[in-house]
Order: sequence, then structure tokens, then C-alpha cells
Amino acid sequence: MNHAVLSNSIDQTAPLPSRPVTALGMFSGGLDSLVAVAMMRALGVTTEVVTFASPFFDISQTRQAADRLGVPLHVEDFGPTLVSIIQRPQHGFGAQLNPCIDCHIAMLRRTGELMETMGHDFIFTGEVLNQRPMSQNPAALRLIAQKCGYAPLLLRPLSAGLLEPTIPEQMGWVSRQCLGKIDGRSRREQLRLAERYGIKIIPPVAGGCRLTEPNFARRLKDLKDHEGLRGMRAINLLKIGRHLRLSQSTKLIVGRNERDNIELEGNAELYDLLLKPEAVPGPTGLAPITIRADELRLAAAICARYSDAKPGQSVRLRIRSTQGVRFIETQPAHPENVEPLLI
Ligand code: SF4
Repeated sequence: MNHAVLSNSIDQTAPLPSRPVTALGMFSGGLDSLVAVAMMRALGVTTEVVTFASPFFDISQTRQAADRLGVPLHVEDFGPTLVSIIQRPQHGFGAQLNPCIDCHIAMLRRTGELMETMGHDFIFTGEVLNQRPMSQNPAALRLIAQKCGYAPLLLRPLSAGLLEPTIPEQMGWVSRQCLGKIDGRSRREQLRLAERYGIKIIPPVAGGCRLTEPNFARRLKDLKDHEGLRGMRAINLLKIGRHLRLSQSTKLIVGRNERDNIELEGNAELYDLLLKPEAVPGPTGLAPITIRADELRLAAAICARYSDAKPGQSVRLRIRSTQGVRFIETQPAHPENVEPLLI
């Protein structure tokens, strides 16, 4: 289809495409996006969907949902884009470190670009008017549509009956009578539609973006303020273990269980140092090789505190880095001295 229609002159008498209308949807695997896809199909639109992968969102459930629906899923690597948005979001953050408006703009812009390269006619989302206070109020929906650059070709089928019609409706590709008029946070209408469309597995209430979780947001902010958001490895490490800020330049990560320990060891790089208690079961610690001597003693005492050693018991730790292996003898730190360091 000729996307010159993005200009304001829309030929209302234009015929339907000679092939089936096709659309690319933004898809999270949540209830709204499932219903949006089902609604598009019920209207005779051939659909594909795109999801945005980043360290902040686990897309395994998205993949399963797309599989169950039998809709082709395209996965976009969105990590670097989202990290650069977090550095300086034009429209600010939500309650935590979630730059939802800028994030939506960037995802929709990319969806529009993909629509063009993949040869779809329009894009759609599962957004619902007034469902989220920051990014789905009427002004935010308008702003996001304008800024993404694809406003005329964007359809929000669940609330379209309450929004200005866009080209898919104006051209008669989809009928306004068949589109939703959902407004607000209740899921009742989506559940009713899901039943009508035969969607059997209903995902739990949306969530899943770590940027909205206070604990994760606190760690990410600490990283941003100290080491900076340079590269995905440091961000991925935020999901593993306990994080303790020892000084402006030194952070210690301590495994909480065997899985964390294995992951920390697997993630260690040239400029890292690994600590591990000997003789008693205990966690792996990961710290930068630039750690000062006094900080290293503290790091060892913290690892000992989370080991099976009794208070006051002496613990020997192995310190491994590219500079070789050495040992340090310490006693477990007192919990009162450790708690304030936790991020
Ligand atoms: S919740 Fe997370 S993924 Fe969703 S728009 Fe906000 S920042 Fe982006």
C-alpha cells in the first residue's frame, strides 16, 4: 500500500486493497494485546505482531502467548534504545524509573518502520484509554501518536470508538461499529471479548516491566549514578544476587543461592574479582578489580556473613582475578553493618 496516505489528503472513495488488509500489532502477550489481535482477525485483517526485547522485560510469556494465538511474532532488540531513553527521557519517568511515554513513542516508531518494510497497511496496539495514568490518558495517547510519526496509520482497536478515526477506519478497512469503546482500568470488557474470541488462557494483570519495580529501579538508579549505564552486562547483573554499595566506585554483588553463584561466576570478566568462602558453604561475591584493600576486607567479611559460618567463626576466602589467586581470612560482618550497604 502507498503510505503517501500519511499526508492529510485521504481519498475517502479509495477502493479496498485488492489483497487482504494486513496489519502489524505491538504485542506484549498481555490480555489487551491478545484481544486486540483477535479483534483484528475477526474484522478480516491478517495480522503479525512485534514485541520489544530488553533486559527489563522477560518475553518468554510473550512468545508462548503468540504461539497459542498462532500469530507470527517478530522480536526486536530494544535494549540499547531503552537504555538511551532512560539516560534522558524527554517526557520524564513514571512512579519508578519507567519512561513510559518515550518508550511507547520509540516502540511505535519502530513498529511503523517495520510496517513499511514488511509491507503492512497499518499498525495497531492493545492500548486502552485511561488504563494507565501516565501513558494512556487522552493527552498522552495523542502525544505518543503524533511523536511516533505514524499517527494516521495507528489504530487502537480496544478504544477506537472513543478516539478520532484514523486511516484504517476512514478507508473502510475496519468498521468503527466493530471496534471497542473501552475506557479505564477494569478488565471486564476485555474478559468478555476474550471469551467471545475463544481465548482460553487469560494472562495475569499486566506488569512485568522491571522499570516499574521499586527494588529494580533503585538498583538501576544506583548504577546510573555511579558506574553509568554503559552496556547491557552491568544491567543484566542487576537481576542477580544482593547488591551492596561499598563506595562511590565499588559495588559488591553477592549470590543468594547456587544459581546466582553460577551466574556471577559465568559473568565475571577481565576487570572483575571473585570471592568465595573455602571450607564452609557460602556465596560467590563479584567486585571490580579496582577495589581498595579496605573495601576488599569488607567485601570478604560480607561474603562470610552470608555463608554458613557461625558469628565469630573465622572464614578463609579465595580471591580470584586475572592477577591470580590469593586468600583472605576474616570473620563474618555483623548484619547491622551490612544492612545499610544494601541497594
Ligand atoms: S512499562 Fe516499561 S516497557 Fe512498558 S512503556 Fe513503560 S517503560 Fe516501556
